[in-house]
Amino acid sequence: MKNTIKSRIDPEKKTIEIMIQMYCKNFHNPENRFCLSCLDLFKYAEKRLKYCQFGENKPTCKKCPIHCYKPDMREEVRKVMRYAGPRMLYSHPIMGFRHLLNKFKK
Ligand SMILES: [Zn+2]
Repeated sequence: MKNTIKSRIDPEKKTIEIMIQMYCKNFHNPENRFCLSCLDLFKYAEKRLKYCQFGENKPTCKKCPIHCYKPDMREEVRKVMRYAGPRMLYSHPIMGFRHLLNKFKK
């Protein structure tokens, strides 16, 4: 039980990283892993995961009382997810995807 809770953060981080990469590669044709704006977005998302008030004991974000993404960043992430989400289901069917999806549902 403890382990399930503890391992929740990293798959999420990995998932968001992969999704932003997919999105960026397709739309921005970056020289590196991400273009600058996608790197910002990733860092932002990463920070939100890291500093989430509940840390590793956080409830799933759907139930989380703190809405920790700024509206514009949230919109960016949603764009990424709209593009990468369906593709993720094929290539990375587990990961933290379901949890992330809940977070950005309206
Ligand atoms: Zn990009």
